[in-house]
Amino acid sequence: MVDSFSVIKSMKEYADRENVPIMREDGINYLAKYIEKNKVKKVLEIGTAIGYSAILMALVNDSVEITSIERDEKRYLEAVKNVKKMGLEKRINLIYKDAMDVVLKEKFDLIFIDAAKAQNIRFFEKFEKNLEHDGTIITDNLSFHGLVDKKEEEIASKNLRALIRKIKNYITFLKTNKNFQTDFIDVGDGLAVSKRK
Ligand code: SAH
Ligand code: MG
Repeated sequence: MVDSFSVIKSMKEYADRENVPIMREDGINYLAKYIEKNKVKKVLEIGTAIGYSAILMALVNDSVEITSIERDEKRYLEAVKNVKKMGLEKRINLIYKDAMDVVLKEKFDLIFIDAAKAQNIRFFEKFEKNLEHDGTIITDNLSFHGLVDKKEEEIASKNLRALIRKIKNYITFLKTNKNFQTDFIDVGDGLAVSKRK
């Protein structure tokens, strides 16, 4: 019997040590509550990293099934290890690929976008056809460590400015989306919760 608490603790320590940007605690708690309240069964996650959020979502209850995509080999392999340690291989399906090259036929109750922040619009547009009619798309890091609310001249690096501009574009994309209504939730690093109108 694995002690799931110690596996989760060691995942957090690994993430700290290796600079893996896993979800903040209040963010993952919000996501877990959302899954519980809305009786979410099938989840698609874009951006597994080391499996931390996938595992915590799967632990909500036994009927949750996760498909999660990761393009970085080292992180994917670490996720495979962690999922195995937790005995969750049957309910967490890990895919090692760039999400833009993944074709899925299934539909999901929840799509969680937590990968390359500059690509959010592309992920949303690619995977919205995999969303159940009454499903939800949740996107992480809309506030990007508070930088999205900063003035451009306060952000030192040019690359970071470009990234923040892309996150702002994504926020506009969500706000003006004809098919989806989005709530912006100030938990974790900022979540967007989008449902069909
Ligand atoms: N959801 C995880 C954290 C994900 S970090 C958690 O909270 O535990 C973001 C991950 O997305 C990184 O590991 C990165 O390699 C991956 N990623 C970025 N762009 C991607 C893409 N196009 N396809 C698949 N994975 C991607
Ligand atoms: Mg994130």
